[in-house]
Amino acid sequence: GPVVRFEDVHFHYDPDRQILRGIDFEVPAGKTVAVVGPSGAGKSTISRLLYRFYDVTGGSITIDGQDVREVTQASLRAAIGMVPQDTVLFNDTIAYNIRYGRPDATEDEVREAARMAQVAGFIERLPKGYETEVGERGLKLSGGEKQRVAIARTILKSPAILILDEATSALDTKTERDIQSALDAVSANRTTVVIAHRLSTVINADEILVLRDGQIAERGRHEELLALG
Ligand code: ADP
Ligand code: ADP
Repeated sequence: GPVVRFEDVHFHYDPDRQILRGIDFEVPAGKTVAVVGPSGAGKSTISRLLYRFYDVTGGSITIDGQDVREVTQASLRAAIGMVPQDTVLFNDTIAYNIRYGRPDATEDEVREAARMAQVAGFIERLPKGYETEVGERGLKLSGGEKQRVAIARTILKSPAILILDEATSALDTKTERDIQSALDAVSANRTTVVIAHRLSTVINADEILVLRDGQIAERGRHEELLALG
């Protein structure tokens, strides 16, 4: 897999207010780096810069040594799978939603992706809100379940690099465990950046960065950070 590197990355949406102030980290090929920290610290901004919704205002982001600004948008987005915080599902079955982006995928591939993301139980159903057209097939999905549908879609796309922006909503313990296991399935052997709002979901990350005020305040493995308190 590719190596992702942030070098002295600075960013502001508004010149009066710096959001990222010198971010340095590397995600080695196939490894997972998690970014945690208080709300507003700049965590999601890191994922938006890597996916190039915005460009850095200083420093650089490279993939295998190539600046992301030198890569076409199409090839960047083919290489990166993005699981956003809030997934909006299409008015069709969960299976259709998983297949979106890979219309050539076989039934078996869709089912396998659904199984890995722990949504196999309801792939023939539709997200609630659309149930008036289809009667009782409508299913109300929680934020965590919608995110797992997005994870299944990403498993099927099989990108070399994965960005997962964890749902911010409060999740129950079982949902949290299901997301964690879906995440482990999709991130295995893939270069992965996880934006996490709970330290508990990133136990298996190879490195955790604690972001505070747009800078990396601490870094280490899960057990090292717990020891710091
Ligand atoms: P986190 O993910 O750590 O909660 P974000 O990266 O979403 O933080 O946001 C960092 C800061 O940037 C916050 O103060 C937020 O209000 C601000 N911000 C986020 N998006 C925008 C935007 N599009 N325009 C202006 N400010 C923004
Ligand atoms: P795709 O590459 O899968 O066709 P996009 O690249 O447009 O889709 O978006 C990927 C995901 O990121 C979408 O689910 C979308 O909701 C989300 N997204 C799109 N634009 C932004 C943005 N400016 N900031 C944060 N998230 C975004």
